Amino acid sequence: MRYAIFADVHSNLEAINAVENAIKGERIDECLCLGDIVGYGANPGECIEKIKRLASIIVAGNHDWAAAGKFDISYFNIYAKKAILWTQQNITKEEKNFLSHLPLIYETQLFTLTHGTLIHPEDFGYVLNNVMAGKNMQIQKTPFCFIGHSHMPEIYKTGENLVLREKSREIVVKEGNKYLINVGSVGQPRDGDPRAAYCIFDTSEGTISIKRVEYNISKTCDKILAAGLPQTLAYRLFEGR
Ligand code: ZN
Repeated sequence: MRYAIFADVHSNLEAINAVENAIKGERIDECLCLGDIVGYGANPGECIEKIKRLASIIVAGNHDWAAAGKFDISYFNIYAKKAILWTQQNITKEEKNFLSHLPLIYETQLFTLTHGTLIHPEDFGYVLNNVMAGKNMQIQKTPFCFIGHSHMPEIYKTGENLVLREKSREIVVKEGNKYLINVGSVGQPRDGDPRAAYCIFDTSEGTISIKRVEYNISKTCDKILAAGLPQTLAYRLFEGR
């Protein structure tokens, strides 16, 4: 099987369109989405409809549940909060209903999908370093776990009780190891690379790669400004921060 796995689209239609085009040439069997379809950007409804068609499995992000009124936004920063309130005004009842029914975790024998962490997934905590990755992997039952949430692509692996951060963004997996993969963000990357990120997981080749694709950031930026959303949510896209 060849999976395309992506996260944190954040209502950025141009970015998800670019990823959709890029994976057309990848012989993909199934697309999996790790949540945060909405929030920050100006095309929530369009992104929900697109991802519903594109992905066979979708798990919930904190912004998805927040937009559906199912997650407390008092701890969100001011920009995220404004964007959630805007999103709630700009999606339909059906779309809210769809978001509120997204599950926190999806698991097969081979892999687990969640937005933030397996430790109280409903709290949407972050995996930001080896220690947190190790704690997550302690309760990870499957060889692979794919996450998003931090918008920073990372690959962690365990071997002989060590947790290492892979330097390469393309790895060949070894049996017996556990892997925790942050697939980065489609619609609002924060690792200094403004291109949309997505992951290809090839189970027969035993490879995992994090890939990047350019999209029309100016167009997305103009839409965010025209919608009256906070300007910083538009300009940060050029920096990938
Ligand atoms: Zn996010």
